[in-house]
Amino acid sequence: MNEIKSIPEIYGSRVFTDSVMREKLPKKIYRELKKTIENGTELSPEVAEVVANAMKDWAIENGATHYTHWFQPMTGITAEKHDAFISPLEDGKIIMEFSGKNLIKGEPDASSFPSGGLRGTFEARGYSVWDCTSPAFLKEDASGLTLCIPTAFCSYTGEALDKKTPLLRSMEAINTQAIRVLRLLGDNDTAKITTSVGAEQEYFLVDKDIYNKRKDLIFTGRTLFGAMPPKGQQLDDHYFGALKERVAAYMKDLDMELWKLGISAKTEHNEVAPAQHELAPIYDDTNIATDHNQLVMEYMKKLAPRHGLECLLHEKPFAGVNGSGKHNNWSVSTDGGRNLLDPGKEPHKNKIFLTFLLAVIKAVDENAVLLRLAASNPGNDHRLGANEAPPAIISIFLGEQLEDILNQIELGNLTSSKSETSMTIGVSTLPSIKKDVTDRNRTSPFAFTGNKFEFRMVPSSDSIACPNYILNTIVAEALKEFADELEKADNVDEALDKLMQRTVKEHKKIIFSGNGYSDSWVEEAARRGLPNCRSMVDSVDSMIAPRTVKMFEEHKVLTETECAARAEIMYESYINKVQIEARTMIDMVAKQIKPAVIAYAKVVADTVASLSAVGADADVERELLGNITANISLLDAGFKKLKKELDKSVSIEDVKEKAVFVKDHVFTSMEELRKPADELEMLVDEEYWPFPTYGDILFYV
Ligand code: ADP
Ligand code: MG
Repeated sequence: MNEIKSIPEIYGSRVFTDSVMREKLPKKIYRELKKTIENGTELSPEVAEVVANAMKDWAIENGATHYTHWFQPMTGITAEKHDAFISPLEDGKIIMEFSGKNLIKGEPDASSFPSGGLRGTFEARGYSVWDCTSPAFLKEDASGLTLCIPTAFCSYTGEALDKKTPLLRSMEAINTQAIRVLRLLGDNDTAKITTSVGAEQEYFLVDKDIYNKRKDLIFTGRTLFGAMPPKGQQLDDHYFGALKERVAAYMKDLDMELWKLGISAKTEHNEVAPAQHELAPIYDDTNIATDHNQLVMEYMKKLAPRHGLECLLHEKPFAGVNGSGKHNNWSVSTDGGRNLLDPGKEPHKNKIFLTFLLAVIKAVDENAVLLRLAASNPGNDHRLGANEAPPAIISIFLGEQLEDILNQIELGNLTSSKSETSMTIGVSTLPSIKKDVTDRNRTSPFAFTGNKFEFRMVPSSDSIACPNYILNTIVAEALKEFADELEKADNVDEALDKLMQRTVKEHKKIIFSGNGYSDSWVEEAARRGLPNCRSMVDSVDSMIAPRTVKMFEEHKVLTETECAARAEIMYESYINKVQIEARTMIDMVAKQIKPAVIAYAKVVADTVASLSAVGADADVERELLGNITANISLLDAGFKKLKKELDKSVSIEDVKEKAVFVKDHVFTSMEELRKPADELEMLVDEEYWPFPTYGDILFYV
């Protein structure tokens, strides 16, 4: 009971929250800082000095000894370099010090992070700059508590080298354009809009000792070999199933640590695949939700070993069972608390809702490949388009009610909204319940879910910054085009009706409510002219397409140079990750699989020889031996081929050409090599198999 009572006290206790600031800062300074946070006014050095001092006092009171600028480089994870607060005095003693300058600016070496050519090792300077819109917090590890100051990270030449900067820029961009549209639609009160995100995080938990025996899990985060066990996810008995004790203890621990950091971990349950789980927080402003999701992933990994577990965030740790994604729930709301994507009871009368809805539809249709890129990483290539999760084709699910409204708009006769009905379950003691106006569609990559869009393609292991700055920017662009047109009109109402009708006509092809996993959808989508990028490599060019660059520059989210750098980083990351996987396969085949299989083949061969020597029937043994040696030959051929393709890929200079080669030759050779290895696993005595199998990993916890 005590524990439950104290959760509101624990919650946010490690965060330099608004109420801590109000308590610790002089009124005037607090007001100045709030102005910067809320309205983006510039922060004066004097204010920074006072804030830094208060932050330091608060951190030290709580036991911190160090501080760090915490930033989000292009690796997809966060980075930090710890400095102690100590500062020497003349008498050999020290004081604990932290200045406004320390708070505002740090200088991490920029050359050791991916920069896409923006920084060479000889031009290393980079800056981390305090982002006061995201609260500072205390992180605990074996070294104690560290004050973490969220920052943006840029190069000496001013280019963004991180994922946070464009996200913050995109939030300003969509705000500017949304306010223009709101004014045209008669809203004169809203001063600011914000995009919110709730990121549902999927993950796997496996036993730590078993994990330690698999080089592929250690080096690549996924299994590169493994035959299917007799049981997978056929029985649907894991989804929402009762939690196993070890997992429950882990989740409790995780909740507690996240709550201390003010992260609203809310929903936890078992997912579809064995050993798969999910955590969903309550949504927040996009920049905060992004910081929080980074911390969620970090703490998921960090706390697992305490429970003898390892957390896998990879999109596809196991072939044959579901992979992991991140559902990025996204909406736009005003400072007055109105969710602009909330249709209300009679959406057909809600012009503001319809305008924003159509802006999203137009944005998604016009930037489908870019949005596909936004959800791309090498791991996600195993999910998207691989008959799982959403397909690689971007489409929007709206549901019956909104599709009906769009039809009416298209016909120029918008008069009604289908409404909720109630349903009874057929048992008199059960209450009748209100039925939602639409069903759900789990196969849609971009689904309207009542008052928000759920972008369901996002990779589980990556930062959500990129999907969200792309989403914010493409919607900002659509809103801008709407505003440009409406501002010129003599009669805004009439112009809006025309604009809505035209938008529906032009973009309805992106709307699809059927089964996104079916083959017929792939054909239908092709007929509709919707792009289908099966690999992330195919989508990277969309980042540097003239249209994209123009849009990012127009909204001051990315410059042309920054777009090019990001494209290069995507290629490089694809190449590096697949090459590491290939090298791991080569290592495992050479040092583990081959020796084990050859040793077992000898046992079988000896058996054949001794049985034959005494004139006994050795047909079964001989057949087994034949099967084994045939697969060893295939394994060897696959092994040699992969080595050759890998070597070739290393020698290619041009980054795009190299990525394409890696996809078409290295990646495909890896799949070929896996087949005989998985066959052999089923032929060899399990005592001989050199590492834990899928059955051991998936059902052990
Ligand atoms: P669903 O059942 O539709 O998945 P949930 O209520 O479980 O909806 O929410 C899933 C995620 O969406 C949660 O993280 C939740 O906080 C988030 N969410 C709910 N409303 C919004 C909103 N208006 N904007 C962004 N995210 C939201
Ligand atoms: Mg959901």
